[in-house]
Amino acid sequence: MTDCLFCKIVAKEIPAEIVYETGRVLAFRDIDPKAPTHVLVIPKEHHADAAALAAADDGLADDVLKAAHAVALQDGVTDSGYRVVFNTGPGAGQTVFHVHAHVLGGRNLTWPPG
Ligand code: C5P
Repeated sequence: MTDCLFCKIVAKEIPAEIVYETGRVLAFRDIDPKAPTHVLVIPKEHHADAAALAAADDGLADDVLKAAHAVALQDGVTDSGYRVVFNTGPGAGQTVFHVHAHVLGGRNLTWPPG
C-alpha cells in the first residue's frame, strides 16, 4: 500500500532498526519505546489490523506470533516475562493501520494496562 508508513519500512524507504526478518515478517524497534524491549512485529503483506490478519487464511498470523517469540528470545526477556499486544482500532490506541504486534519486556509489566 503506497501511503502506509509500515509498508514503507518494509520497502526500506523509511529507516528502522530491524532486529528480525523472514520472507513474510519484519520486526523493528519502536521509535518511542515504552520498555527496554519494545519491538514491533509486522507481516510484510499489508493488513490493517489484527482482525484482518486473523482473516488471512495462509498462516500469516502464526508467522507473526512465532516472530514475536523469536524476538523475545533474542532480547533475552523470556525468563522475566514479556507481553505481546495488538492495539486494534482507534478506541484501543491503534494509530498505525498496518497490523503490528508490540513485544514488550525487560521491566516489570503491570496489569491492567492503561
Ligand atoms: O499500536 P499503535 O498503532 O499505537 O502503535 C504504533 C507504534 O508505532 C507506536 O508505538 C509508535 O511509536 C511506532 N512507530 C514507530 N516508527 C515509526 C512510527 C511509529 O516505531 N516511524
